[in-house]
Amino acid sequence: MRILVTVKFTPDLQSQRSFTDGSVTRTADDGSMNELDENAVEAALQLVEAAGEGEVYALTVGGPDAVAAVRKALQLGAHHAIHVSDAEIAGADVFGTAKVLAAAIRKVHDEQPLDLVITGMAALDGLTSMLPTALAADLGWAQLTLASSLSVADGTATIVRHMPDAHETMSAPLPAVVSVTDEANTPRYPNFKLIMAARKAPVTQWSLADLGVDGASVGAIAARTEVVDASEVPPREGRQVVTDTGDGGVVLADFLIERGLA
Ligand SMILES: Cc1cc2nc3c(=O)[nH]c(=O)nc-3n(C[C@H](O)[C@H](O)[C@H](O)COP(=O)(O)OP(=O)(O)OC[C@H]3O[C@@H](n4cnc5c(N)ncnc54)[C@H](O)[C@@H]3O)c2cc1C
Repeated sequence: MRILVTVKFTPDLQSQRSFTDGSVTRTADDGSMNELDENAVEAALQLVEAAGEGEVYALTVGGPDAVAAVRKALQLGAHHAIHVSDAEIAGADVFGTAKVLAAAIRKVHDEQPLDLVITGMAALDGLTSMLPTALAADLGWAQLTLASSLSVADGTATIVRHMPDAHETMSAPLPAVVSVTDEANTPRYPNFKLIMAARKAPVTQWSLADLGVDGASVGAIAARTEVVDASEVPPREGRQVVTDTGDGGVVLADFLIERGLA
């Protein structure tokens, strides 16, 4: 079984954020692999382990820092890492990013066919959840979205998707693009041996020229969406912080009673 997982480099969401020209201001060493992509890597590793053979590729598209995302995937157990980076990708929207990812996937697939591409359910910075669909459309492959579980048998991928009122079971012929949710599994922790090995493991570096992609078709000029404005959320008003000097419970109860909440 040969599976490619797309992993995105995202900034550390716990830290203080600011914006420059509609984009998040980034500093060195500020970020890692999108947390939800750990579920995608785990799903791929479990399928390969269950099959008893196979390889997992981790692929990212991003600036020089984005290599950290595929190194994290290597720490978790991915066998190969690919980082596509090119100044001309700057300002890409979801379609441009999908086009570059699709070109890299085709290059891997042409060398030796892939069975599956697995993605996370969303990137915690961009949060469109559109990329998996744009990717499947560009590849012309079947797509199964938001899998809470994923299995493969007889050339078919089958997922269960948990909707508010129903559990749907869907299948598609391979090769297919599958996005998995955070319900799909519990990502493993990297072990010491893999952490050490990942530091030295080779990462394949591709530019747009390596993929035969025209920069003008994927970068800022080609973007169909534009971030018109981005600003920090103002601090919430009307908050009351109570310092508990022994009467915290009473103050809290009074607060709730005054507002008809108790
Ligand atoms: C080089 C570069 C420059 C960019 N410049 C800008 C900019 O100037 N302004 C701006 O607003 N946005 C920019 N973006 C962000 C980009 O528009 C979106 O983040 C991207 O299209 C994916 O959308 P999303 O983050 O909503 O992903 P979602 O659709 O929410 O992600 C779903 C899944 O897709 C996969 N995925 C998403 N992105 C990547 C990736 N890059 N590599 C590998 N896997 C991925 C992951 O598996 C993820 O879990 C840039 C992106 C790149 C790569």
